[in-house]
Amino acid sequence: MPHTSSVESGRFEGVDLTALAAREGTPLYVYSAPQIRQRVGSLRAALAGMDAGIRYAVKANGNAAILRLLAGEGAGADIVSGGELQRALRAGIAASRIVFSGVGKTDAEIVMALEAGIERFNVESHAELDSIQRLAAQRGVLAAASVRINPDVDARTHAKISTGKAENKFGVVIDDARAWFAESATRPNVRLDGLHMHIGSQLLDLAPVRAALARMAAFWRELEAAGHSIASIDVGGGLGVRYRAGETAPDAHDYAVAIAEALQGFRGRILVEPGRWLVAEAGILLSRVVLEKQGRERRFLVLDAAMNDLARPSLYDAWHDIVPLHTDAAREALDYDVVGPVCETGDTFATQRRMPRCAANELVAILGAGAYGASMSSTYNSRPLAAEVLVEDGRYAVIRCRQSPDAMIADERPATEWNTP
Ligand SMILES: *Cc1c(COP(=O)(O)O)cnc(C)c1O
Repeated sequence: MPHTSSVESGRFEGVDLTALAAREGTPLYVYSAPQIRQRVGSLRAALAGMDAGIRYAVKANGNAAILRLLAGEGAGADIVSGGELQRALRAGIAASRIVFSGVGKTDAEIVMALEAGIERFNVESHAELDSIQRLAAQRGVLAAASVRINPDVDARTHAKISTGKAENKFGVVIDDARAWFAESATRPNVRLDGLHMHIGSQLLDLAPVRAALARMAAFWRELEAAGHSIASIDVGGGLGVRYRAGETAPDAHDYAVAIAEALQGFRGRILVEPGRWLVAEAGILLSRVVLEKQGRERRFLVLDAAMNDLARPSLYDAWHDIVPLHTDAAREALDYDVVGPVCETGDTFATQRRMPRCAANELVAILGAGAYGASMSSTYNSRPLAAEVLVEDGRYAVIRCRQSPDAMIADERPATEWNTP
């Protein structure tokens, strides 16, 4: 999927990016609808031999238009908050295709999910299991639940996005899960009949996935032998993408083969929860160069996008390819520190990055920005949230208006009214 070349020519899905930036301003998130559809399609094709469903991880990019697009391609949702539940439902995703993960579900969130009638809860603690039983009993409903297993494998990804090691807060050990199944008669309003795992994000190597799947499969067989029927195995998300030209990421086919091999003989439903893999490479962050600055030791390219718009480089030291949109082949190559205007040294998109010289007011595209970009953005330094557009066939649609400074501060007020709680 040659995202780089499609942007290098100054166009993205046939849309002239210079004209788009002039119309809609920068920083601007631009997502390719065909590329997202292509990803879902190829994952569905890879999973075709299995009874498998895609539950898109909303946190990767929860924009309503993106959710609608994915829902139209048959994807459900993996949510981690009440807010994501509302987003998913409003985007037309059926509750029967929504699974709820997360280590700290509040009673209010559990109630919202029960009332919506979601597909199942991915339960991460004994206390949560008890809460679901209590709240489901109060309403006289039966909640389907899977236990999130912490398989204790090293996903070999960045520590901050690794979730399947024993020291991580996620899931429970198999011994605990075994006890939950054994005592399930004490929870008549919970149908505990599923297993879930999610070992981490941006996995570039399938070996840890295979190791975790093997543990899940052994446990599923043990449970079946003990008389517990397992209707659902959810293998989580985490499939990695190419952030850097030349990098290789696992493809959908190899991933599906790993799942099929590990779960051979399983007769229930398999769920997958990809987030990043479906949307990351389909998105760019379009930004304008504010100025070039020669420091004593470094040459800086200061953009109008910053860490509040795209946090991944400052949060995870993540690499994003950065492509200047000027087409002047005669420009010299320079080593830039590409930075934003926010008052933090961590507001750095790239360090000592060799790229053709850029000048003020020219545009650059930060690639691979479709996942964990807009969804992690903030208004830090009182920078209103960037606009987002979807492109396809030479046209674009605004799917999030640029936040106005008024809207940014609208909910704040002077302390003129004092109350006692
Ligand atoms: C974040 C998350 C995902 C998606 O992860 P990606 O790396 O974006 O695929 C899936 N499942 C759970 C439980 C998650 O927390």
